[in-house]
Amino acid sequence: MLLVEEGFSPLKMSRLKEEKINKMILGEYREQFHIPKVNGKDSIYLCGNSLGLQPKKVKEYVTEVLDDWATLGVEGHTQAKYPWLPYHEFLTKSMARIVGGNESEVVVMNSLTVNLHLLMASFYTPTKKRYKILIESDAFPSDKYAVASQAKLHGFDPQEAIIEWKPAPGEHCVIMEGLNEIINTQGEEIALFLLGGVNYYTGQYLDIKAITDLGHAHGITVGFDLAHAAGNVAMKLHDWNVDFAAWCSYKYLNSGPGSLGAIFIHDRLGQDMSVQRLSGWWGHNKTTRFGMRDAFDPLPGAEGWQLSNPPILPLAAMRASLELFDDAGIENLQLAAKENVQFLYDAFTNSKQIKVITPENPADRGGQLSLLVLQGGKALYDHITQHGVIADWREPDVIRIATAPLYNTKQDAETFVRIVESFG
Ligand SMILES: *Cc1c(COP(=O)(O)O)cnc(C)c1O
Repeated sequence: MLLVEEGFSPLKMSRLKEEKINKMILGEYREQFHIPKVNGKDSIYLCGNSLGLQPKKVKEYVTEVLDDWATLGVEGHTQAKYPWLPYHEFLTKSMARIVGGNESEVVVMNSLTVNLHLLMASFYTPTKKRYKILIESDAFPSDKYAVASQAKLHGFDPQEAIIEWKPAPGEHCVIMEGLNEIINTQGEEIALFLLGGVNYYTGQYLDIKAITDLGHAHGITVGFDLAHAAGNVAMKLHDWNVDFAAWCSYKYLNSGPGSLGAIFIHDRLGQDMSVQRLSGWWGHNKTTRFGMRDAFDPLPGAEGWQLSNPPILPLAAMRASLELFDDAGIENLQLAAKENVQFLYDAFTNSKQIKVITPENPADRGGQLSLLVLQGGKALYDHITQHGVIADWREPDVIRIATAPLYNTKQDAETFVRIVESFG
């Protein structure tokens, strides 16, 4: 999208693509990050799906805000180099690119679970007949708590109102046949799909477009939690006609622990002023916001869902990170990740120690692999940790690793395989 916008010919475009991917392979982006050390050496950091690393520019951008606050006080809202009043707007274009949305469809605000609730306040509008919410059986716990409490808020029993899309017995990933079966039996009763675009546990990347089409064909609103997809895979939420989505920025998007989330609301809905939204002053018409006495005049688009003025310090960190995404391009990052992930997948294909539970088809996964430990249990995880790997252990028997191509090179993948093979 970025490349086409800048008017590159297809030939030049592919050359630029190559150049960016080479930059990743050569570790030039990696130099822009602080790499945590273990025993005095750079760690093998494979945990970008949990907390992305700190871009070196973050300190400068955050310090800039601190300095403006120190020297300008309240005037920083309008006088700062990057004025605070519109600060979130400096991020919209880059964030919209990450998920393939129009700028009017995306805004950075709040954090993820809060945003899921705000979006459900608008888009989960159950009736007596159509009130169920579909979620994956191994969805992230926060999402499960959120949907159950929404059902309860509307007077329904979560036990009955929440439908779980389960993998087939003995399998780890869900399949479309399973979803079709649910639709065939309960399609008329389902109000909402709320699904993880990339599953946090298995790393499975769902077919967002096919699921959206299927839901819409049955009158169902379709929303996605993109916590593990944003910054990991290139999406086209607008073209795929997704109704809404929310994600956080501290995983693949490297914006710092607990940093702000973002939302997508399709223009079909965001520009429709009859859609109910929970309101606050930051969603009010910018030109009259400080009049303070006007009746609520909501902004069209995703910005109309804002409630509060956002914290500027984490936005500054996010600006540093998104600049790198703009430079590298999310499509290129996805390509680079694919190579590393394929290398890792192949390395464990015949392993007696490990079974990869992430889908084999490259189209069904992003930068994460989930490794089921067949032999050695947690001792294998302890072994890799002692040898400088930072990864993630999920009870009872899964190691999750992610390659984030902005800072993970092929060498990380190779070293990881060697360390695993040196166990026991
Ligand atoms: C990381 C993650 C969360 C975390 O929610 P916060 O509100 O940011 O604490 C929620 N859902 C999913 C799917 C996640 O991966």
